[in-house]
Amino acid sequence: MVFPGRKLALFVNGCFWHGHDCQRGARIPKNNVEYWTKKIERNRARDKETLIALQKLGWRVHLVWECELKDHERLQADIQALMEE
Ligand SMILES: [Zn+2]
Repeated sequence: MVFPGRKLALFVNGCFWHGHDCQRGARIPKNNVEYWTKKIERNRARDKETLIALQKLGWRVHLVWECELKDHERLQADIQALMEE
């Protein structure tokens, strides 16, 4: 989600694909561990580059993890707070 008028970017990251430090993110398939580890490492590196690039342009970047989506109230409060900043 991008709010150009506010220079605010909101990313929703899948815990597995983006290597979140949570239960779901730690669940790497038993087969091809090396393949998955490398793939997720690449995703993380790309995430970081995107984040830095946006911040250099003066954007505020907010990351929401898949596992946090379950907590709707907190999520709404977070977004609300970002909008009011
Ligand atoms: Zn997570």
